[in-house]
Amino acid sequence: MSTTAYQFTEAFARSMDAQDPLSNYRSNFHFPKVDGKEAIYFCGNSLGLQPKTTASYIQQELENWAEKAVDGHFHGEDAWYHIRKKSKPALAHILGAQEHEVVAMNNLSTNLHLLMVSFYRPTVQKFKIITEAGAFPSDMYMLETQVRFHGFDPDEAIIEIGPRAGEHTIRTEDILNAIYTHQEELALVMMAGLQYYTGQVFDMKAISQACKQVGVPVGFDLAHAAGNVPLQLHDWGVDFATWCSYKYLNSGPGNISGVFVHERHAENPTLPRFAGWWGHDEGERFKMEKGFKPMFGADGWQLANSNVLALAAHQASLDIFHEVGMLELRKKSEQLTGYLEFLIQEISGDTGVLEIITPSSAQERGCQLSLLIHKGGKAVFDEFYKHGVVGDWRNPNVIRLAPTPLYNSFLDVYRFAKILEQSLKKFA
Ligand SMILES: *Cc1c(COP(=O)(O)O)cnc(C)c1O
Repeated sequence: MSTTAYQFTEAFARSMDAQDPLSNYRSNFHFPKVDGKEAIYFCGNSLGLQPKTTASYIQQELENWAEKAVDGHFHGEDAWYHIRKKSKPALAHILGAQEHEVVAMNNLSTNLHLLMVSFYRPTVQKFKIITEAGAFPSDMYMLETQVRFHGFDPDEAIIEIGPRAGEHTIRTEDILNAIYTHQEELALVMMAGLQYYTGQVFDMKAISQACKQVGVPVGFDLAHAAGNVPLQLHDWGVDFATWCSYKYLNSGPGNISGVFVHERHAENPTLPRFAGWWGHDEGERFKMEKGFKPMFGADGWQLANSNVLALAAHQASLDIFHEVGMLELRKKSEQLTGYLEFLIQEISGDTGVLEIITPSSAQERGCQLSLLIHKGGKAVFDEFYKHGVVGDWRNPNVIRLAPTPLYNSFLDVYRFAKILEQSLKKFA
């Protein structure tokens, strides 16, 4: 819908909810309370809400364990030996991948290191990595220590692409130009798919095409993209990616991550990797013999046997995503975030108190909006919380709000806007 049709009235918000085909999904989630009242929860970018089905999925595995113990590995429909396969159809849909290109395992930071073992293979001439400036700290530490591990100097090896002076987001042309300019010395492009601080979605397709042209591998950290924006990793030709499941994928605090490895690497046993028995050919795994033979596809990057309880919580959420579908979710997401943007602009107008630094075009953002607050600062944010709004504050002066389409409503957005209006009157 065009923004001109949005209205700052409760009746409008309620009518949008009434027309929303996904509105019932809200009741499938547990909402936290603030002072005894259900929160307006805009923090799904940090920790997604718990589906009401999660407990029963975990309970089922507890029962399997209690009743079958070690036999649970091989007996029954949900034998743990093959349990990783269950999540593949939904993950393939969410990531835009073939099923053999994805597998759930480990945590994000662990996975990114494992993937860089395979895809960051610097030489004396080609050892540099292009990434975005202001990346998430774990990503900065990973790049820095990978570079040192190979004996190079991070200050020399890591090329950060940032916004131009006076701008908040990074221009695609600047990323592409850097790839072409540095191609002779470049070993890897590794960056976020969706920037955690500004909410900018990078043009992963164009970046991947440029990398292909210059023959440099490309990987994306999709912590803020998976389950938020539609992805086409296979078609875009991305070499590798990883994500976490506890943000938009609602799988529980610190829960299991996953990896994508493009099928062109599926049968390349010469790619270096740090292996474990679960990545070894599963037909021969229990021969317990020397000589690592990787499984086909992403499965060949697994190290250890599956974390069954973690996968159960993950599956509870993935089943919801698979049922809803990313395109339906995205349709609502664009409207919901568009409504939040509209109301913020109605309220702050040209007072200069608030500035949305997330791109205004839907193609360049997910559901999160990041607001620079120029007057009132943290006091405004604290006032939100007093009125039951759970958002996220980043020093020195950014508020991140993520209305997530699976469980937030247009009424949530409207109610937040009324609180914003009052809070600015009081403190800004
Ligand atoms: C959330 C997030 C992480 C977290 O990594 P874990 O290994 O799950 O702790 C890493 N990178 C980015 C970009 C993130 O947004």
